[in-house]
Amino acid sequence: MTLKKYVLKNLWLQVVISLVIGLFVGLAFGDDVGMGMENDNLNLFTSYLSIPASIFLSLIHMIIVPLIFSSIVIAITSLGTTEKMKTLGLGVGTYFVISTVIAISVAVVLASVIAPGNLLDISALQESYDLSDDEVKIKEGFSLEDIPNAVANIIPKNPISSYLEGQMLSILIFAMIIGMSMLVLPRESVKPLLDILEAVQKITIHILMFSMKIVPFAVFGLIVGMVSKVGIGSMIGMGAYMGTVVLGLGVILMVYLLILKFVAKRSVLATFSKMRNPQSLAFSTGSSMATMPVTLKTAEDDLKIDKRVSKFVIPFGTTVNMDGTALYQVMAVFFLAQLFSIELSIVSIIVIIITSLLASIGTPAIPGAGVVVLSTILVTVGIPPVGIILLISVDRILDMTRTMVNVTGDLTASCVFDRITRKQLSS
Ligand code: ASP
Repeated sequence: MTLKKYVLKNLWLQVVISLVIGLFVGLAFGDDVGMGMENDNLNLFTSYLSIPASIFLSLIHMIIVPLIFSSIVIAITSLGTTEKMKTLGLGVGTYFVISTVIAISVAVVLASVIAPGNLLDISALQESYDLSDDEVKIKEGFSLEDIPNAVANIIPKNPISSYLEGQMLSILIFAMIIGMSMLVLPRESVKPLLDILEAVQKITIHILMFSMKIVPFAVFGLIVGMVSKVGIGSMIGMGAYMGTVVLGLGVILMVYLLILKFVAKRSVLATFSKMRNPQSLAFSTGSSMATMPVTLKTAEDDLKIDKRVSKFVIPFGTTVNMDGTALYQVMAVFFLAQLFSIELSIVSIIVIIITSLLASIGTPAIPGAGVVVLSTILVTVGIPPVGIILLISVDRILDMTRTMVNVTGDLTASCVFDRITRKQLSS
């Protein structure tokens, strides 16, 4: 394959290239080392460069609710049809929720202690995108008085108005209620809606993949704007943010080691070394879905998981169990909140935890989806979605790492349920 073809085929590479070119172009126009373009001209120039970012964000806005809604309903209904599978499904579902909550807690602690967002100068982003002061003003988090109201409003009285008002948490809860009801009803009676939702999911993923083609241009525009106005120093905080995410993902891997040793009762090193194939494939493709056939093969052939367990846990886990993604999304929200000086109260942190738990379930297992779905959580706490473009510029390496963690989580879960259900299933 020629270099040109390789670049055209790999979106992440295009993003990295536009990031690098953006840095140079930004430096050339800025007054740190470059020509120091006059402010008015620079503003006009960067406002044109921000067009792709605005288009991308509008497209995401357009599809995010149907995408997450259909993904959550489909994931819940895939819990199983036979009675035996329903019991196993409930156990596995509970395990997935617990492991995701652990991942989210790790994220909350690390992101609050390290606070990478305080290292990056917000004025860069504010100037580049002409965010009105209103959008970036210090927003008060929820207060104790808000709790009764918040709890009452969490169940949407009118799902359509929740949708119109962008109340993401209510929409996610609505999806959960619909999914659970569809799960208990006879399959034939819910099949028509399930078919429609599957079509909706396919269409929205298609639009998402198509919109992603704009990302290299969006990143270029954002980086040129930031670097030309504030200088290369504006990028330093990004390194700290990436380091914090990778550290958090490392902590989750350690948790998996403990689960393998104490819950699944397996030799940790031997088990982990058998996971190498799907782990490296997940790392290189950035997609748990694309890795799934290998994950399944490794579970059955190398880890000797009972096929009845692996055939359920791996596909189900691939769609709903994304500990790496949940950790990443929470860290990214904290990072952007710190960046935009949005104070997060305990109640808003709880809202973030619940939203990201559901958002990670609704994240499709494809490259870069985690950062797009992040917009759901951002809307909930009032963070300007333009921050997403900043995160996408350095997302590839984080996507690769969190996908590897997601896949490792599914394999760890199958080891746990292999041990727990081996006897039950054979009885
Ligand atoms: N790429 C991830 C996966 O497939 C999802 C994400 O973007 O977080 O597991």
